[in-house]
Amino acid sequence: MAPSTHFKLNTGAQIPTVGLGTWRSEPGQVRQAVSFALKNGYSHIDAALIYGNEHEVGQGVKDSGVPRENIFITSKLWNTHQPNVGEGLQKTLDALGTDYLDLYLIHWPVRLVPNESSALLPVNPDGTRSIDRSWDQSETWRQMEEVYKAGRVKAIGVANWSIPYLEELKRKWTVVPAVNQIELHPFLPQHALKDWCDKHGILLEAYSPLGSEGAPLMSDPAIQQIAKKNDVSPATVLISYHVNRGAVVLPKSINENRIVSNSQVIALSREDMDVLNGLAAQGKAKRINTPLFGWDLGFDDWYKQ
Ligand code: NDP
Repeated sequence: MAPSTHFKLNTGAQIPTVGLGTWRSEPGQVRQAVSFALKNGYSHIDAALIYGNEHEVGQGVKDSGVPRENIFITSKLWNTHQPNVGEGLQKTLDALGTDYLDLYLIHWPVRLVPNESSALLPVNPDGTRSIDRSWDQSETWRQMEEVYKAGRVKAIGVANWSIPYLEELKRKWTVVPAVNQIELHPFLPQHALKDWCDKHGILLEAYSPLGSEGAPLMSDPAIQQIAKKNDVSPATVLISYHVNRGAVVLPKSINENRIVSNSQVIALSREDMDVLNGLAAQGKAKRINTPLFGWDLGFDDWYKQ
């Protein structure tokens, strides 16, 4: 059976299964990448205020000529805006040049307190991140529910939330998050978190599906073997893995050939999926992104302090 091109969110809306990532897409590159992607089969763009390029992403959307209503745009509330979600959202909407988002995510379950060192990545005098550990994430979620109910965003969700954090949020939520966007690939399959989210109707989105900068996961021999067997590139295996598993996938590229090839999703056999799902348990477990937020975020493999 051909892999799905869309999944259904718990709001009832359709979300395209492959979206273009935009982290580390430099100004001068991302406008062209977004426009090219939208003209060549993509209809889903993943953005964030902290990426510092939402303005260009918005220009790329306009350049493409594709009507706004045919594009699924996600962006993320940055940590410094947790106490004022409406304000953070407005910055994003202004930069993107749109009056609504299809999906808005809390980028991390972490509040950073801006100070004179930086508006977005503040540090304390001793160099540690300026984190407000007492901040209640359910208050951020309450404000997310407000902008959702006001119609400024069509769905709300979270990113980088572990089971303990979701369990805590569940005590207060009146709107169930539509999505949890996390690092996800065969070396970090997060089986327990996937089961929890499936049970609660929360769709997973896979970030860093190729292993982030330089796509290091493509050189793993097990991935290469499955690619060879299916006569596709290792990137196609890593991307297809998620769609076959029921998760959205967000490969980033600013290269036209790679943008096109990354939109190819194949059906993987049960046997291939079993191999991919088992790699981490066979000693290959690996997390690539661990920002120095300085405490345990509740993931089993996360460093503890
Ligand atoms: P990816 O795993 O998508 O890898 C991107 C890297 O792979 C780039 O160096 C890119 O280079 C290269 N690449 C892309 N396609 C190919 C290909 N077919 N063959 C060889 N190399 C390739 O990394 P990201 O970390 O960027 O994750 C994807 C997206 O997920 C982000 O852009 C962002 O939108 C989101 N994200 C969200 C996070 C969160 O906290 N919520 C955290 C991290 C990411 P080139 O551009 O030159 O092709």
